Formats: sequence, structure tokens, C-alpha cells
Amino acid sequence: MLVIEGLTKRYPTGDLALDGVSLTVPDGQVMALIGPSGAGKSTLIRCVNRLVEPTAGTVRLGDTELTRLGGLALRRARRRMGMIFQEYALVERLTVMENVLSGRLGYVGFWRSWLRRFPLSDIEEAFRLLNRVGLDHMVDKRADALSGGQRQRVGIVRALMQNPDLLLVDEPTASLDPKTSRQIMRLIVELAKERGLAAIINIHDVMLAQQFAERIVGLHAGRIVFDGAPGALTPEV
Ligand code: ADP
Ligand code: ADP
Repeated sequence: MLVIEGLTKRYPTGDLALDGVSLTVPDGQVMALIGPSGAGKSTLIRCVNRLVEPTAGTVRLGDTELTRLGGLALRRARRRMGMIFQEYALVERLTVMENVLSGRLGYVGFWRSWLRRFPLSDIEEAFRLLNRVGLDHMVDKRADALSGGQRQRVGIVRALMQNPDLLLVDEPTASLDPKTSRQIMRLIVELAKERGLAAIINIHDVMLAQQFAERIVGLHAGRIVFDGAPGALTPEV
């Protein structure tokens, strides 16, 4: 469970990106975070994984208060958060399997022999997940030979290979066509549900959010202006 209380971020430029946001996401809940550009969606996700330092407020994941951690403890806590990015963030010169296994490791080795260090069970799990997203026939393809939809599926599997407690997903479909966007959203939601993960999906597209998420939180100027079921969302929000 993710518990955010009074989260506030003022950037050094003076921009108040988050203004006292409180939010609880239980395990197994897929929440879409919507709002216009500049509402604070990315800042919220980045305050959770501490790529951005909040000005005030707390973030807890299970029993761990993330906002207190530093150094090694913070790195360990980040391993519990699977990230999925708009631009996929794959290592282009590595294969699908190598990219996926880097999720288990937490970093990409500088020489290929690191692949051999993985136990068979990890490789099998990677195959199972790649099969689940329809990419098991492409394990040896380099990332730079994949389409956008395929790259994002690799990104999803890489995040799941971390065995995360939480998925943080930042505009996963912003670079994809509408049909592929729906496929990717469906996969993210199904896999999060199967594994009982809490998920925050930062998404610009309100229709996609309504179609796939069970809960929608609307941000505007750093404040929550809507929190409810997709059906309760009115055009004024
Ligand atoms: P969204 O993801 O909803 O588009 P952001 O979190 O990116 O919103 O931005 C929220 C506000 O914070 C905006 O006013 C933006 O200009 C500001 N902001 C975001 N990142 C920075 C930064 N690194 N430095 C200063 N201001 C920032
Ligand atoms: P998907 O819907 O599975 O993501 P697409 O329909 O977008 O796939 O792409 C079909 C095929 O075209 C894929 O097998 C992919 O290898 C190839 N392809 C698409 N975009 C690119 C690209 N930017 N670079 C290389 N190959 C690409």
C-alpha cells in the first residue's frame, strides 16, 4: 500500500508543483492520474521514487517511510518500485532478454558475460513474462529493432522482473498510436491486477484512463480536484 500525506513540492524556480497532496493506493488497485500539462503528475511520481525531493509531506510504501531514506536504503526501496516510462528507456544495443534481465539486476553490466550469472529460474521467469506479452519469439532481437509497442512491452516485463510492490507508470502511451496504446494499457492493468500490485499510471488521455483504470485522480495546479470511479468523472473536471 502506498500512502502519501501532505505532499508538497516547490521547485527552486518558485513553481508550486504539488500543494498538499494526500492519497492512498491499496495493493491491487490501479489508479490513473490525470490532469492538464503542468498539473504536477510527473512531479508526484518523481516524489514517490525520490528522483525529486519533496519540500514537505511523507510517502510510505508498506512500512517504509520513503521520504526518510537515503543512500543504500533508498536504493533498496527503489528496487520495490517498478518504473515504466514514456520513452521506454531501454538499452538500445542490448537484446530484449538482456533488457528484461537488467530489471532483475537493477543495472546494466558493461560486459555481456553478466547474462550468464543469472540462475535458470530467472531466465524462465523472463520467458514466461515475455510469452505473456507476446514477445517470446523476439528474445534475441536488439531493442533498436523493435516497434514502439514492442519496446513498451519490454519495458513492462523489465519492470515486473524487479518483483516490485508498486508500479509507477509515466505516460506509457504518449509515443504510441491509439490501437497500440489500448493494448499497452490493457497489459499494464492486467499484469498489475494478477500480481496484486498498487499502480499509479500518469496519463494525459482521459478516455484511456476511463477505459482501463478503476480509480481516477484528477490533479490541477498541484491539488487533487477529483478522486473517484471512472464513471463519476464529468467533463467539467
Ligand atoms: P505534469 O506532469 O502534470 O505535466 P509537472 O509535474 O511536469 O506536471 O509540472 C508541474 C509544475 O512544476 C509545472 O508548473 C512545471 O513548470 C513545474 N516544473 C516541473 N519540473 C520542474 C523543474 N525541474 N524545475 C522547475 N519547475 C518545474
Ligand atoms: P506492434 O503493434 O507489435 O508494436 P507495429 O505494428 O508497430 O508492431 O510494427 C510492426 C513491425 O514493424 C514490427 O515487427 C517491428 O519490428 C517493425 N517496426 C516498427 N517500427 C519500427 C522501428 N522504429 N524500427 C524498426 N522496426 C520497426
